[in-house]
Formats: sequence, structure tokens, C-alpha cells
Amino acid sequence: MNDLPPLRDMIAEHGLRADKGFGQHFLLDLNLTAKIASLCGDVSDAALIEVGPGPGGLTRPLLALGPQKMVVIEMDARFIPVLEQTGEAYETPFEIVEGDALKADEAALIGDGPAVIASNLPYNVGTPLLIKWLKANPLYWRRMVLMFQKEVADRVVAPVGSKAYGRLAILTAAVASARLALKAPARAFTPPPKVDSAVVVLDPLPEDKRFADLEALEIVTESAFGQRRKTLRKSLGIAAGKAGTSSESLLETAGIDPGARAETIDPNGFFRLAEAWRAAKG
Ligand code: SAM
Repeated sequence: MNDLPPLRDMIAEHGLRADKGFGQHFLLDLNLTAKIASLCGDVSDAALIEVGPGPGGLTRPLLALGPQKMVVIEMDARFIPVLEQTGEAYETPFEIVEGDALKADEAALIGDGPAVIASNLPYNVGTPLLIKWLKANPLYWRRMVLMFQKEVADRVVAPVGSKAYGRLAILTAAVASARLALKAPARAFTPPPKVDSAVVVLDPLPEDKRFADLEALEIVTESAFGQRRKTLRKSLGIAAGKAGTSSESLLETAGIDPGARAETIDPNGFFRLAEAWRAAKG
């Protein structure tokens, strides 16, 4: 099975230096990467997708989980030879896709069957990738194990009323339950970023518990939290305008106090607002 040279040796042999432009901060501590991989659970009946494998520090323990197949999507071509070498050391069918994960069609890449997505995400595309995966229809992933900068992780799992609560927590709550599973200090990475990181585990809600109209939800949450200190009567004006209605009318339909502020309204309240927005938009 795995007769790979140590990760640091492979990085040195291939002369791979972290490129800031690609948001590269590597995990070279194999205890930590094994811990992250274990959060995927049993993947023996699933495909694994890893975005941004880089030199493969997380790829190795993910492959060792023995998924049906594994697909890695990496934008920086310098890593392809190291990844090829990594894949050859395991029995799991392994596919390397060179390109931008934001443009990838993951469902087509994995074929039939559920997928688990795992990634130490590049900071600059972490949020748009999460939103892309939350919007996937049909939902092809059954778990996501995602490393974000800590501040973004906090926003994904934020409860109503907290400072970090906003668009990201609400979009997440529409589709999945999310928990903060692991914190990683900046010094766990090479080179260390300026901020700490954390791993969030997301599991989809049962289909009948999900709120499907994420487009409307994005519009109302963007408007409501764009001016989070104002009352919803004021802050929802932009969203209401896009549907040719007033914020008062949207709030009344959703049964929400127009004098309330966005951060006090739970995700269900925002789902009702998104429904009201869609009905007004027609
Ligand atoms: N997984 C490796 C690890 O943990 O050591 C590297 C993580 S590093 C934070 C992010 C990786 O994502 C880099 O390898 C970078 O080249 C890659 N990357 C950046 N933007 C990307 C994109 N849009 N699509 C795919 N990969 C991307």
C-alpha cells in the first residue's frame, strides 16, 4: 500500500514552495490531517472529493480511508506530479482534475453514489465554494469536512443573536446541520497564515426539512444584513424593491415585527421572508 516518501521530502524533491496567490498554507502534521480525515466517517460506499490537495498532506489519510473512488481538484499545476505519485501508492481509483473548483461539475466527476467533500480550503474561495455546494441540486454530498479560517467557521455555525450570525449561518441552516469539529492554530500550517483555522462538519438535513429557494434566501439575507444595525423595515428595502414590493408587506406576510433587527430573526423567519419575497416577485 503506502510506500510514499515523507511529505516534506516530496515537497523538497519537487521544489514546491507555497504560492500566496493560490492561498497556499500546507498541513504537514500527519496527526492533524489524519484527525481531519477521520471526520469523514465511513466512506467505503462513497466517493471522496478533495479540493485543493496541494502537496497531498490531507490526500494521504483520505485515500487511506478506502473510498470507492477519490477525485482531487487542484488549480496549481505544479502539484500534479506529486499527486500522481500519491495516488499510485493506494488501491483506490484516483482522478486528478487540474482546474478551478468553482467551475468544476463535481456531480459529473463522481458519477453515481453519494460523495463526501473534504478540504483545507483556500481562504479566498472558501465562502463561494461553500455556497456553491449548499446550492447543489440534487444534493450529491452526504457530508462535508471543511477547514476555513476560524472567523468564517464561526459565521457558518453561528446561532441566532450572536455577533457572527448572518447570511452564511442562514444559508447553511437551510440545507445542513453544521458543527465546529476542530480548531487549528495558525502555527499548524506551513507557512503559517495570519489567522487561526477551524474545521466545520456539515451533514445535510432530511430532504423534507430543507429550504430549497436559496436564491431568494440570498437576496433577503444580503439586504437584511447589509445594514445589520437598522431595523428590518429599513434594511429590507433593497430586496423588497427587487420584487416590486415594500419591506412592510414582506414582513407582514412573513409574520415578522418590522421594528426587529436582522440578527434577532432565526433561520425559519428568514425562510418565511424568502417565501414572501418569491411570492411577491412572482
Ligand atoms: N490541502 C493542502 C494542505 O492541506 O496542505 C493545501 C491546502 S491550501 C490552503 C489550498 C490549496 O487549494 C492549494 O493547493 C491551492 O493551490 C488550491 N487552490 C486555490 N484555489 C483553488 C481553486 N479555485 N480550485 C482548486 N484549487 C485551488
